[in-house]
Amino acid sequence: MKRTLVTGGAGFLGSHLCDRFIQEGHEVICVDNFITGRPDNIAHLIGNPNFSFIELDVTNYIYVEGPLDYILHFASPASPIDYLKYPIQTLKVGALGTHKALGLAKAKKARFLLASTSEVYGDPLVHPQKEEYWGNVNPIGMRGVYDEAKRFAEAMTMAYNRYHKVETRLLRIFNTYGPRMRLDDGRALPTFMKQALQGDPITVFGDGSQTRSFCYVDDLVEGIYRLLMSDETDPVNIGNPDEISILDFAQEVIELTNSSSEIIFKDLPADDPKIRQPDISKAKEILSWKPVVDRREGLRRTLEYFRKEEPAVV
Ligand code: NAD
Ligand code: UDP
Repeated sequence: MKRTLVTGGAGFLGSHLCDRFIQEGHEVICVDNFITGRPDNIAHLIGNPNFSFIELDVTNYIYVEGPLDYILHFASPASPIDYLKYPIQTLKVGALGTHKALGLAKAKKARFLLASTSEVYGDPLVHPQKEEYWGNVNPIGMRGVYDEAKRFAEAMTMAYNRYHKVETRLLRIFNTYGPRMRLDDGRALPTFMKQALQGDPITVFGDGSQTRSFCYVDDLVEGIYRLLMSDETDPVNIGNPDEISILDFAQEVIELTNSSSEIIFKDLPADDPKIRQPDISKAKEILSWKPVVDRREGLRRTLEYFRKEEPAVV
């Protein structure tokens, strides 16, 4: 039986990975310090003989008994309000936490996958973003704590691959959404849903002309599984290229929820990327992967989750 460690496994994406790898017949060990994750995300796995949980901060030391085949390093605050609230922890988990997770991969001869991000492209000057693009990041801006931590994490991963011959995979995730997101994580999608369902004004930052491309979580998880099982060491974008402006997206959420909310405009945060769309030709070619859940369907499933899990709020 394969043994797989998921750091950040009690988070939004990490908990879906725990589910997927258990379904694939692996023994899954989840580590998390709950800085932004929640016990609820993994509560259904407690008691499963193939699942175990260790509460720890991966920036200190990661101790896991026995062999490991795969390490999926997902620990890191991920939404702008989270990493602005925890700037030092974000830098530490991207740098020191990645170092510890890579050290563990080397010791256990495990294959390591890094959850990197489209934020390594910053406010991109190339559109759509291809893996070859080096990005346009402000190191000292508010978002720098996240973007530069991930850029360092990528460099560290490549160094362990080249110098220590650790088998590594670099995944660049574009905006992903779905069940188990926190309604209060400040990201556009849960924020708009909560506002729409409560009849509050929808807060669009700037004039809303900035774009994003939203990928449903099940599609991402499939891409992660395929990348991990592939031979590709260089970065691979996984995301849904269906790009939409934030203003149009706010409108879409209003329609979908039959809400009477109005749209109001607030200041655009510093360094907010103006455009973002993944070029997924590489994933299509080498992983035979493409997203299959369209935004309306994905939003419907996410809405259902919020209604079920947070009835007091929505
Ligand atoms: P999340 O906040 O729900 O999950 C992150 C998890 O990591 C949380 O459970 C948190 O408690 C845990 N964590 C953070 N620091 C830790 C530490 N020092 N030790 C142990 N656990 C720690 O966020 P998410 O959206 O699930 O993101 C997961 C990963 O995917 C992150 O690395 C993020 O950068 C990356 N990512 C996500 C997206 C997205 O759209 N959701 C996009 C790009 C990249
Ligand atoms: N955004 C917005 N209103 C909100 C939250 C976010 O208009 O209440 C905007 C934000 O400025 C950005 C886009 O929506 O342009 C996506 O933001 P999110 O935090 O979801 O992700 P990221 O900026 O990291 O892609």
